[in-house]
Amino acid sequence: MKTEETDILVIGAGPAGLIAAREAARRETKVMILEEHVEIGRPCHCAGLLSIKGLEQLGLPNNEFYVQNKVKGARFFSPSGLSFTVEKEEDVACVINRFLFDQYLAKRAIESGAKIVLNEKIKTIKLDGKEVVIQTENDKFAAKMIIDAEGASSNIIKDVGLKPINRYLAVPGIQYDIENVDVDAKYVEVHVGKKVAPGLFAWVIPLNASKARIGLGCKGANPKFLLNEFVKRRFNNTHVTISEVRSGLVITGGPINRTFCDRFIVVGDAAGQVKPTTGGGVVLGGICASIAGKIAAKAVASGDYSADFLKQYENMWKNQLGVEFRTMLLARRILNRLSDQTLDKIFRIAVKENIQDLFSAEGDMDFQSGVLLKLFKKKEALGALPSLLRDTLRF
Ligand SMILES: Cc1cc2nc3c(=O)[nH]c(=O)nc-3n(C[C@H](O)[C@H](O)[C@H](O)COP(=O)(O)OP(=O)(O)OC[C@H]3O[C@@H](n4cnc5c(N)ncnc54)[C@H](O)[C@@H]3O)c2cc1C
Repeated sequence: MKTEETDILVIGAGPAGLIAAREAARRETKVMILEEHVEIGRPCHCAGLLSIKGLEQLGLPNNEFYVQNKVKGARFFSPSGLSFTVEKEEDVACVINRFLFDQYLAKRAIESGAKIVLNEKIKTIKLDGKEVVIQTENDKFAAKMIIDAEGASSNIIKDVGLKPINRYLAVPGIQYDIENVDVDAKYVEVHVGKKVAPGLFAWVIPLNASKARIGLGCKGANPKFLLNEFVKRRFNNTHVTISEVRSGLVITGGPINRTFCDRFIVVGDAAGQVKPTTGGGVVLGGICASIAGKIAAKAVASGDYSADFLKQYENMWKNQLGVEFRTMLLARRILNRLSDQTLDKIFRIAVKENIQDLFSAEGDMDFQSGVLLKLFKKKEALGALPSLLRDTLRF
């Protein structure tokens, strides 16, 4: 069997792998992506809510064929049904079709010179002094270095001795595309509470006024059961038509400690580069992937694939996003400990003190640390402090 050789081998054709591959291939390097599935973008396990600012940061248009809807805000609902709205004058987020989005990213990667090989599941990789040897079910490949973008499955990373994401801190997610419903096409809904979705939240993302993506992530409960209950409650037991079911693991534990070693970089979900507050990983993972592609191309140009050289990648993404991940992780840890009574209390204070105005004016879907730190410091938040402390210190 002949071994196919390349400069950079990317594991996985999800958004992180495709963005990293494009950035590297644009810089005159030989890039090959191996994807285990027979088609890019399927199976899909994503709600497809991406901020318009985030798309801009990734250099991606917000008016392409993959955009299904645009929204201008979100309505948050407490366990007892209290609610407040965070919104902007203009649209802030796109609801995308992830299959078409991934296809678009693949086209761009190929146009930049990357080669994509489908139906090749990587079984093992072995680092030796001069190259990396990759074994799939049927073939053997050799590369100067690897960009691991294998997603939440996070298996290959163990072959190089790096620590994978902590699965204990990930939550199973499930969602339906539903039709024949009555929703506000301009607002996403977020429902929190231990009975609704312990460990994350439930969402309703409108595709238009009669179609939506409804889902939840939860820990320690049956996601399908909770989602069915939520659908019944949300639509008052009226009949809804389910056209598609998706499920997957939502990463909420923050990035892994080390994202590089000799001849190896890890990006996206596999590196835990996902917002711990929401489980959204396309934009921040994409930013990290873009850095990874650039540094990998530099490694090829310089012939230096050492951990010392590749450390630049980690330094760069941590400089840009380290505080964001740490702050969102703290917020997620606090949220996970709150009882439904405390959540209701926080909502009451938020409504009374118009805290939604702070979110509307200064909130950013991806870079959340600024508004979260301001919220932690707000004197109005003191009213919830005793309950917050009681819940967070309970063991
Ligand atoms: C229910 C749910 C809803 C979500 N909603 C949102 C949302 O609204 N907005 C948002 O930003 N994020 C959302 N996310 C998160 C988002 O889907 C991920 O952060 C994103 O897909 C990560 O991209 P990735 O490229 O790192 O991994 P993936 O998209 O998982 O891609 C990894 C690729 O690697 C391939 N692969 C894996 N192992 C191998 C192997 N051994 N050999 C070859 N190929 C392999 C896989 O087949 C896959 O194609 C959601 C996640 C879930 C589960």
